[in-house]
Amino acid sequence: MFTFLCHVSPIAVPELPEVERAAGLLRTALVGRTIASVSTLHRSAARYLPASVADTLASCVVTRVERRAKYQLLHLDDGRVIEVHFKMTGDWAIGPASLPAPALERVRLVTTDGTRVSLVDGRAFAVMRVHAANASFLPPLGPEPLDAAWSGDLLRAALSRKRGPIKPALLDQRVVAGLGNIYAAEALWEAAIHPNARANRLSLARVTRLAAAARLVLERAPNARYYGHRSADDGHAYAIGDGADEQWCVYDREGEACRRCDGRIRRVEQAGRSTYYCGRCQRA
Ligand SMILES: [Zn+2]
Repeated sequence: MFTFLCHVSPIAVPELPEVERAAGLLRTALVGRTIASVSTLHRSAARYLPASVADTLASCVVTRVERRAKYQLLHLDDGRVIEVHFKMTGDWAIGPASLPAPALERVRLVTTDGTRVSLVDGRAFAVMRVHAANASFLPPLGPEPLDAAWSGDLLRAALSRKRGPIKPALLDQRVVAGLGNIYAAEALWEAAIHPNARANRLSLARVTRLAAAARLVLERAPNARYYGHRSADDGHAYAIGDGADEQWCVYDREGEACRRCDGRIRRVEQAGRSTYYCGRCQRA
């Protein structure tokens, strides 16, 4: 089990653009629809969504699907909210209920008009649970990097209390919500900032460039990444692919040439996470 968890090549962990895409698929499939049934098909999913709770979702209408950081929130007409977090390998498989069930199905939601939304999850770490109306359950979250209001000024204010290196600071969800390990590394490369640069020492000009770079890598992702690609074409719509076509500038490119300066891409461990950067053109 332990060796299985220590993967050699990176897996396609859902990051913010994938979760945004997943929420979009869910919106199309579920908003305005009535839930016929929800079934928990795996003990890992039953820890969060026991059958006694899943059964109470029948006949609820999904009124709205919201994304906040990497959380997907399904608002129901009785005020309750279904929280979903994909964690490592979660995804939706969406299709007509008449299709054969997708592989690795953990939770199955079927609407009264015959759409099946399955939470599929190889490692079974994903969370799907129900919260009471008006419950407060999200952790403290900073601004959304894709919001038009987010700026270098806001980022610099959030970084002012961060005396450590910039890369782990960018992963603090209170600094910016949902930026994730891959895109933090890619944004730092775009902005030519070394991952070890002191977070609260960066000039406003560099932080402004970093905020723009974060937005750029997140907005570019839907075209550059691998959405909808699955080695098994089973007729379902998926939000996240198999990761085969990823095109990164630094992530997972240790030892390769920098696309900007031909320098060597390096890898270091920071706060327990791999960070990739160009040793030549990213400056502290
Ligand atoms: Zn370089």
